[in-house]
Amino acid sequence: MPKWVYGFGDGSADGNASMKNLLGGKGANLAEMSRLGIPVPPGFTITTEVCTFYYQNKQTYPADLKPEVEAALARIEKTMGCKFNSREMPLLLSIRSGARASMPGMMDTVLNLGLNRETVAALAKATGDERFALDSYRRFIQMYCNVVLGIGHHHFESILEERKEAKGYRHDTDLTAEDWKVVVKGYEKKVEETQGKPFPQDPYEQLWGAIGAVFGSWMNERAITYRKLNSLPDSWGTAVNVQAMVFGNMGENCATGVCFTRNPATGENAYYGEYLVNAQGEDVVAGIRTPQPLSLAEKKHAGSDLPALEEVMPALYKELCVIRAQLEKHYKDMQDMEFTIQQGKLWMLQTRTGKRTSKAALRIAVEMKEEGLIDGKEAVRRVDPAGLDQLLHPTLDPNVPKKLLSKGLAASPGAASGKVVFSAADAEAWVGRGEKVMLCRIETSPDDIGGMHVSEGILTARGGMTSHAAVVARGMGTPCVSGAGDLKIDYAAKTIKVSGHTIHEGDVLTLDGSTGEVFLGAVPTTHPELSGDFAKLMEWVDVIRTMKVRANAETPLDATTARKFGAEGIGLCRTEHMFFDPQRIIHVREMIVADTEEQRRVALAKLLPYQRDDFAEIFRIMDRLPVTIRLLDPPLHEFLPTTDADFREVAKAAGMDFNAVKSRAASLHETNPMLGHRGCRLGITYPEISEMQARAIFEAACDVTHEGIEVLPEVMIPLVGLKAEFDVLKEVIDRTAKAVFAEKGVEVKYMVGTMIEVPRAALVADKIAQGAEFFSFGTNDLTQMGYGLSRDDAGSFLKVYVEKGLIDIDPFVSLDQEGVGDLVRIAVKKGRSTRSDLKMGICGEHGGDPASIHFCQRVGLNYVSCSPYRVPIARLAAAQAALGVEGETNA
Ligand code: PEP
Ligand code: MG
Repeated sequence: MPKWVYGFGDGSADGNASMKNLLGGKGANLAEMSRLGIPVPPGFTITTEVCTFYYQNKQTYPADLKPEVEAALARIEKTMGCKFNSREMPLLLSIRSGARASMPGMMDTVLNLGLNRETVAALAKATGDERFALDSYRRFIQMYCNVVLGIGHHHFESILEERKEAKGYRHDTDLTAEDWKVVVKGYEKKVEETQGKPFPQDPYEQLWGAIGAVFGSWMNERAITYRKLNSLPDSWGTAVNVQAMVFGNMGENCATGVCFTRNPATGENAYYGEYLVNAQGEDVVAGIRTPQPLSLAEKKHAGSDLPALEEVMPALYKELCVIRAQLEKHYKDMQDMEFTIQQGKLWMLQTRTGKRTSKAALRIAVEMKEEGLIDGKEAVRRVDPAGLDQLLHPTLDPNVPKKLLSKGLAASPGAASGKVVFSAADAEAWVGRGEKVMLCRIETSPDDIGGMHVSEGILTARGGMTSHAAVVARGMGTPCVSGAGDLKIDYAAKTIKVSGHTIHEGDVLTLDGSTGEVFLGAVPTTHPELSGDFAKLMEWVDVIRTMKVRANAETPLDATTARKFGAEGIGLCRTEHMFFDPQRIIHVREMIVADTEEQRRVALAKLLPYQRDDFAEIFRIMDRLPVTIRLLDPPLHEFLPTTDADFREVAKAAGMDFNAVKSRAASLHETNPMLGHRGCRLGITYPEISEMQARAIFEAACDVTHEGIEVLPEVMIPLVGLKAEFDVLKEVIDRTAKAVFAEKGVEVKYMVGTMIEVPRAALVADKIAQGAEFFSFGTNDLTQMGYGLSRDDAGSFLKVYVEKGLIDIDPFVSLDQEGVGDLVRIAVKKGRSTRSDLKMGICGEHGGDPASIHFCQRVGLNYVSCSPYRVPIARLAAAQAALGVEGETNA
């Protein structure tokens, strides 16, 4: 015969933590604590099987349930030393639901059960506190009526309000025992009027009424909806937990509090908590009274003059310390506990894994591993990669009030404040005068690079997560919010209109690039300090992970940063980004507007030395590590001259006529530049461009080889869709390499591979792999083209998709694993069918996103590549992916 009722609370328990299906989460946890000898208020759990029986048998109970409940109740009475329905010291009960999975607030609870006219008088006498007894009784009537009898709260609230008004009281706490007597009478009368009979005075009738109501609440509308939303089956049922009530508000030898086994803000291994004498749990959080520190150490640290529990109740404090150690050892994680002291006796009400800041999560994980409580793998699982991001960038002081103006995309993490300027040139001029600036643009272009570089933060009204501003800012490690669509930026008036405010040039704005928020005025930021804990965790991370982590970097500074953060090479060097400098962009423009091959070669010859010197420097920094250099991929609209000043400048440099430059620029204008003459298409039409780049790469490689540097160049062809495109450019690269090696008298090993970023390339990957020695998934373009979403324009409407629940997250932030991900899967399979050892990585922005990194691990990529500042996050996420941890782990 099944056992329906499981008791706990006398230092033993019928159940344990592994019985969640039968006892629900709460019941199983209470049983576990009781088994550990922890003083939990005694009680019993009616199993989820009773719930199933109840619904299968027209809302009736198994015949043998009643005697089991009675026996379990007698056990509670024995442990508590008082009796249910007693006229001396009555036992009161709480009745709560408890399903397998937590369903916070969805089902019903009844507290203070067992009170009636007689037991309330007994309680008043036993505690010497009539007010307390009556207050408990009126709470019980209201709760019971609401949950069991279906009489709404408002009926009772109006009676209470009437009394308060009559006496001129503001708070419930102003009511005296006499007042509560009047209120209780009013409540009883209301019940009788509403249901035609008095409030049930028999505590056993109350108990069965409450048990029935909790089982009934499993099928209330709220609970059904919650289960649907969270994919929880109706068939699970809930358990019912009946437990002795304990009170922290029965006098000066009573208290209640919350505590954490370690400091949840800093992670310090010190007991941390708050309590109040003669109070109920909600008083600690309600903020009416100032909670007191638990320990003397904490009191000293906080500079508090309130007495610590350690001083007021030293023996009980010691008991709490023993429990702290015991629970941490048992659960092997920081616990958040609630306790109540009733007349000198300590009761633990609950324990659960405590929430913590990122800083605390890191410290706790590392220290627990060093204490031998958990192993390195578990420590790695415990730290949320997104949280690590917070530790690497400045964050806004959470304690300072802020005025939110707008919310855009969290394009590049970190927080910054600065004076608003509207052009890159102004940014540079103002910074030259010693100001700190916030560059505000409708969108940015390569022209703005100098200004972007000197700004504290970058704010744009347009553009998505892979827009120019976002990609460049992430590379620089500069905080950026992009696509804040409600900003009305007027360059001419030098104003931003937003949320009823007009911001002028020179006004201060603050942005948080980790959340996408923009605030009015200056908000102080806190600078992160990378602790020794970080380095330790990273060592364990690197042992566990199987994917390599590289960086997207194209300047010596970025490459140095990347290496400092542990990058194992460069996965994407966007060569067009190497021309952002005004000195160089002019020659790129010269090259673009050139009419003839000859003119183009003149411009290219000017660019060659810059390229060669940059590559040489990057090779030096990345000594012994692979460097993937991508041939030019400039979306034309980002590079074309647009203003008369630009045309004049280009005309002068190229020795062309102003009007010729202007008309050539107009003729190069494209309707869809992202689908236009970019990537390998440029090299197909003008092979001399690829030739110049290959020459710069190999000359640099040969030169640094002579210096004793080990170079591993990987030349990458962008935007390939046809095998033939790849073949044409590979021939140019190989031919140039051969020529340079002959000139320099040295040979350098190199690879030639391709981006997989055009859907067609994914579909014919087996053919492309005949020539390509590696694939790098350009998931920015693969998303753009696979999804048919413009990288630069989607920001404005994608947020509506997220708000309406059509998609969970912007697919430029986290890879669309179902759709675009399938293109990746196909390419991996087809590519490896041709070349089983084909090296594959990802270099789209998804390479720094933890969920996408898990995907990369699952499909078998060899490495991920991301912006330098995200390298540590990617290392951690890759380790978690290797351990098979899904998503975020810091519960
Ligand atoms: C990509 O498309 O994912 C990529 C890395 O290239 P870019 O962002 O430069 O287009
Ligand atoms: Mg691309």
